[in-house]
Parts: sequence; C-alpha cells; structure tokens
Amino acid sequence: MKRQEMLERVRDRRAPWDVLVIGGGATGVGIAVDAAARGYSVLLVEQSDFGKGTSSRSTKLVHGGVRYLQQGNVPLVMEALRERGHLLQNAPHLVRDLAFVVPNYLWWEAPFYGIGMRVYDLLAGRHGFARSRVLTSEEVLERIPTLEREGLRGGVLYHDGQFDDSRLLIALARTAAGKGACLINYAPVVRLRKDDGGYLNGAVFRDLESGQEHEVAARSVINATGAFCDGVRRLDEPGAAAMIAPSQGVHVVLHKRFLGGDTAIMVPRTRDARVMFAIPWHGHTVVGTTDTPVAEVALEPRPLPEEIDFILETASGYLSERPTRCDILSTFAGIRPLVKAGDAGNTSALSREHTIQISRSGLLTIAGGKWTTYRRMAEDAVNHAAMLAGLEERPCVTRELRVHGYHASAAQFGALAAYGEDALALLGLIEACPDLAVVLDPALEVRAAQVVWAARHEMARTVDDVLARRTRALALDARAALQMAPAVARLMATELGRGEAWQRQQLTEFAAIAEGYLPA
Ligand SMILES: Cc1cc2nc3c(=O)[nH]c(=O)nc-3n(C[C@H](O)[C@H](O)[C@H](O)COP(=O)(O)OP(=O)(O)OC[C@H]3O[C@@H](n4cnc5c(N)ncnc54)[C@H](O)[C@@H]3O)c2cc1C
Repeated sequence: MKRQEMLERVRDRRAPWDVLVIGGGATGVGIAVDAAARGYSVLLVEQSDFGKGTSSRSTKLVHGGVRYLQQGNVPLVMEALRERGHLLQNAPHLVRDLAFVVPNYLWWEAPFYGIGMRVYDLLAGRHGFARSRVLTSEEVLERIPTLEREGLRGGVLYHDGQFDDSRLLIALARTAAGKGACLINYAPVVRLRKDDGGYLNGAVFRDLESGQEHEVAARSVINATGAFCDGVRRLDEPGAAAMIAPSQGVHVVLHKRFLGGDTAIMVPRTRDARVMFAIPWHGHTVVGTTDTPVAEVALEPRPLPEEIDFILETASGYLSERPTRCDILSTFAGIRPLVKAGDAGNTSALSREHTIQISRSGLLTIAGGKWTTYRRMAEDAVNHAAMLAGLEERPCVTRELRVHGYHASAAQFGALAAYGEDALALLGLIEACPDLAVVLDPALEVRAAQVVWAARHEMARTVDDVLARRTRALALDARAALQMAPAVARLMATELGRGEAWQRQQLTEFAAIAEGYLPA
C-alpha cells in the first residue's frame, strides 16, 4: 500500500467508483474488503489514520459477548459466535483461543455461571472453541495465582477469542488493496456531491498532507464513520437528528505480573451491573472497560479520573496485589458507536447490533455492531449499496476469504506473530540490514525493522501511526513509547523523505497524544 500511488489512481480515474466508503475503521475497511472481493471498484477515505477511531481501542476480544447472553440477546450472541469462528479460520495469525475464568466467591456462582457458559458453548455450535467446565479453587489458582484467595470457592473456565485490533485492521486494509481497492488515509470527506435530482453521486475529500481537495464520482456512498457518523449525515442533511448515543470505554494497562499467567479473568457483575475483564495481551495485563455516556465524539478521547478509579477498585476486589495509579503503564479510551434508542441515559443497555439507514439522497449509513461482527456488517452494507446503486448482483465471498498475512502457525514468529506470513519478509529485511534488528526500548519488543516496514508497506505517515497502531507500544506502555519516539521519527524521516523540522513537529504532536495515555 503506497499512499502516493493511491492518490494517483484517484486522479487518473475517469469512471465513477462503484462504492465510495467514508471511514477507515473496522466497518469501513470490512466493507472495502467485501466490495472489492466481489469485483466492485472501491475507494475508501479515512480522515485520520486507519483505525485511529474506535477500532484500535477495543477490549481485543473476538467474542459472542457473555454480557449479551445475560441480557437474553441470543441472536446477537449466535451471530457473533459464528463470526468468531470465521475470523479464527481466516486470520489465525491475528486471532487466538484464550481461556477465561469466572472466579466464584458465592455458593450459587458455580452452578449459575457453569450452566450459562455451557449454553454459550452450545450456541457456538460447530464454530465452538474449547469447552467450558467448572474448576476447583486449586485449579483456579493454578491458572491465576494472583487471584484473591480469601473466600474463593472455585471458578468456571470458558474460552473465547482474542485479537490485535489495529493489526487486524491493517491486514484487512491490505486484503482490500490486494483485491484492487484504493484506500487513502489522512483524507477527510468535507462535502458530498449530488446530481440535479438531489441524488448523491460522489464526494469531495481533502488530502491533509498537500491541502488539495479531490472531487470523486461514485455510484454508491457508504458512511462508515462509526461514532462520527452524524457529522457525515449532516453534510447530506444539515438538520439530521443524531443517530448515535456515544459512550466511552476505558482500559488500564498493567504489568503482566498482575495476572501471573495466560488465563484471563471475567468479572461477571461490577458495581454498575456490567462485566469487566483482566486479560493477558502482548505480555501485559489489560483491564476494562467502562461505559460512560459522553457529549462529544473526539479522535483522542481521554479517560476520566473516575473511570480509572472504578477499574482499579474493581480489579482490587479480585487481585491479591491491589493495582494503584502508580502501576498504570498506559490507559486508553474508545467511543462506542451505539445507535440511539430514545433516552440514552444508560448506554450499557443499548443494542450492540448494527443499523443501516438510507437517506433521501441515497447516503447509506451503517453504525453500531462490534468488531467481531465486522464481516457480517460489511456483507449487509454491500448488499444494500449494490441494490441501491443498481450494481450488477454479485455474491459475498468473505466467509472463507483469507486475511492478508494468513499463516496457520504464526506463533513461531514470537513478537512478530501478528504479521503472519509478512514476518518472514520482516526477518529478511533484518537479515539484509542487521541494524534494523535493534529493539527501540528495553520495555517493549519493537524493532527498528517494524518502523521501516510500517512506512514502506502499511501506509504509516506519522510517529503516532507507528507507535499506536502498526505496533501497540502506546497502548502497552506510554512512557516506553515516548522514549522510542525520536528513533521512530528518524527512521520514518529517512523512509518518507522528510527533514528535521518534520521530525520535531512529529515529536511535539506525539508527546501531546501520549500525555493522554498517562493517568493524571
Ligand atoms: C471500549 C470499547 C471496547 C470494545 N471492545 C470490543 C471487543 O472486545 N470486541 C468487539 O467485537 N468489539 C468491541 N468494541 C466495539 C468495536 O470496537 C466497534 O464496534 C468498532 O471498532 C467500530 O468500528 P467503526 O469502523 O464503526 O468505527 P471507527 O473505528 O471509529 O471508524 C470510523 C472511522 O471514520 C473516520 N471518519 C470520521 N469522519 C470522517 C470523514 N468525514 N471522512 C473520512 N473519515 C472519517 C474516523 O476517523 C474513524 O477512523 C469495543 C468498543 C469500545 C468503545
């Protein structure tokens, strides 16, 4: 993926694109994969970096959603479990089976959650992961030695999927590009274009690097901008009522010793009647999340002090070593694109199913849903768009489409596992240029070669793109990411042909972003 080549394709194109996708998160990139794989011509534009929005800020679970089972939303759970199975099959380098324990401190919890998790297994049907079972307290402590021992009666073991969200997103962007889609980051849509009859026939986006505007013609326009979708809907209908009730979710990242193993904890009922997870991820412990209605949708939402306190307090109820603010290596927030249902006072009760809305001028907005169901959402959106635009009918082919980098045993690549097949090329890069083997900070295993790779092949344009989404340094350890930033800026400047001033500006901008990942 080369940004300049993508822009040239836009400039050279005379015919309208079959599908113009606005938004480069899981939903938009999923749509680009689906539409391009069906053989439609596709242009996707993203206002910032791919995954800068919610799609790099999830809990990293590919799951049916035990909470939705608690709410009795069986169809959503079944669909998500089916998608979990497809994703494991199509992207084994990015998704893995993870064991979870629901610790039991009350007599009724083992039978109650034991039966619940058995139902979860059954709903997964042939797409199931390993089976759930009830554990003794000794077995629980064997898996999670750091768990609070006092009053522990046992636990319920179940399995779900875990993934690296922004790495999957980049792999999907490359899958779409491989199928012929044109994808451009740092390219916000600033206006929509309509014909004399008032029907949408394209858009104008701005290239943030050159400041130039590009007008593009399209047979269908899909608004896949997640929590931002009302902004794009208002480019179409200035007075459109809000569709999204934004809700913020925060995670806290701690040292791996807080879990002490490779099993996650699922807290089935927090003080605010939700679930919370403590999961092992890239050698760290990620704890979250919260559900706080917010008024503004920001690209860099900031965790609120009370959200951090709530996470630490909940974790302290289950862990023998109580985490404090000083233990936090990073904290990140994401905004759920929940579709409004009347009074949005309690966003945790709003549906996680997706919604498709078509405006009078033909703007197709898709919002809601989950990362886990991105493929199904894309299929639905492309079916609707093709019908709306009168495109030749072509079936969806993504159910068995391998994601870029597909590798059945990528774990052998260690810290490079998430690159799948590309890990071999990265190792080749290191062999050709041994300087690129250098680890940029002892706290995290990020090598110089990954920075070069990100700039050359993954359309990384800024230090933040590399440290937040091509690698996961910022989310794992914000101080270590700040330490690495100068080396990253230097490597990128060489790759992208930038000078000293660019490097200085990048460091200033990255320091401002990273500040939001360190608790106040
Ligand atoms: C805290 C939290 C935890 C979660 N955990 C999980 C989980 O474990 N598993 C799971 O399955 N799901 C999870 N989810 C849900 C999942 O992350 C989201 O449903 C999904 O990422 C939404 O993707 P999206 O593409 O719709 O939105 P986004 O990722 O926000 O993408 C929309 C994109 O549109 C771009 N954009 C906006 N305006 C414009 C414009 N004018 N022009 C061009 N581009 C524009 C934005 O920059 C953004 O990148 C979680 C969500 C949150 C908030």
